[in-house]
Amino acid sequence: MAIVTDDIEIAVKKLQNGEVVAFPTETVYGLGANAFSGRKVRKIFELKGRPLFNPLIVHIASADYLDEIATSVPAVAKKLADLYWPGPLTLLLPKSRNIPDLVTAGMPTVAVRVPAHPVAKSLLEKLDFPLAAPSANKFTGISPTCAAHVAAAFSDQKLTILDGGHCKKGIESTIIGFKNETPILYRLGAIPIEDIEAITGNVEIMNQNKGVKPAAPGMMKKHYAPRTPLVLIKNIDQLGKVKFGKNAGVILFTDNVNVPAGFQCEILSRHADPEEACANLYAALHRLDNAQLDFVFAELLPETGLGVTINDRLRRAASNIL
Ligand code: AMP
Ligand code: MG
Repeated sequence: MAIVTDDIEIAVKKLQNGEVVAFPTETVYGLGANAFSGRKVRKIFELKGRPLFNPLIVHIASADYLDEIATSVPAVAKKLADLYWPGPLTLLLPKSRNIPDLVTAGMPTVAVRVPAHPVAKSLLEKLDFPLAAPSANKFTGISPTCAAHVAAAFSDQKLTILDGGHCKKGIESTIIGFKNETPILYRLGAIPIEDIEAITGNVEIMNQNKGVKPAAPGMMKKHYAPRTPLVLIKNIDQLGKVKFGKNAGVILFTDNVNVPAGFQCEILSRHADPEEACANLYAALHRLDNAQLDFVFAELLPETGLGVTINDRLRRAASNIL
């Protein structure tokens, strides 16, 4: 059974003893272990049911520890780190020998970031090693944005969960790699790509569709998925026309009077604010997935800023589009 605690010292001891601990970040909860130990990191893959080709993100307390993780940092990466750390930006950098191959799935680059959550920060400050961590959900499942989501996913396993409340951003970090000084987007995330481009100029998009081993598994086609079939809609009016069975839910960006009666409705942001919508997205998916519905419908957001990130997650979670 999973144990939930807000006692950081318990988490510190467990991690020092080589156990995996779930911990809060501002993006989503992570499943962390000593990033310098392949043997300890292996336990994360086992718990999550994650294939070994899917690398992890290394979390550090501050950019001062970058030397221990990466062998070099392009000037443009340094600029982004100065601006966005601590925060939801992950950089792909040439990996140092301190980082076991298991963490990077044998790739020459390591994903690294400084989380902004105060609990993650003090946890990392108390440890003398960084934490390798993917999101604290089972492989391909919905990401967790509170301790209860993690506890539900790992209810049948022995796992300590450090409770730091709800994740403020609520969606994964933006992942940026580099070809010399050119930034490349590996995963859409909590920082809109327009914001990065305003600093760096044009950002190239990593081509995701080459074979079964994607360069960034966050871009895998099926990911972030509920058990209930999720169907995307471009327009609320489509809901009135579908014959969907008995029980259905709908995820809306904002209030809409045109939703036909009988739908269990989740509104992501009453103020139509994409940032608020990100913070609410996974909790809404978890709630509807636990409501014993036949179908969940979801409305796509306007394709700009964080709307692009939310639509990316919805498309990967969806089984169909109307
Ligand atoms: P998660 O936190 O569960 O989304 O998992 C970490 C994400 O970071 C995965 O989507 C990985 O693909 C991505 N990632 C970690 N290391 C690398 C790397 N070296 N190259 C590309 N993507 C990476
Ligand atoms: Mg994940």
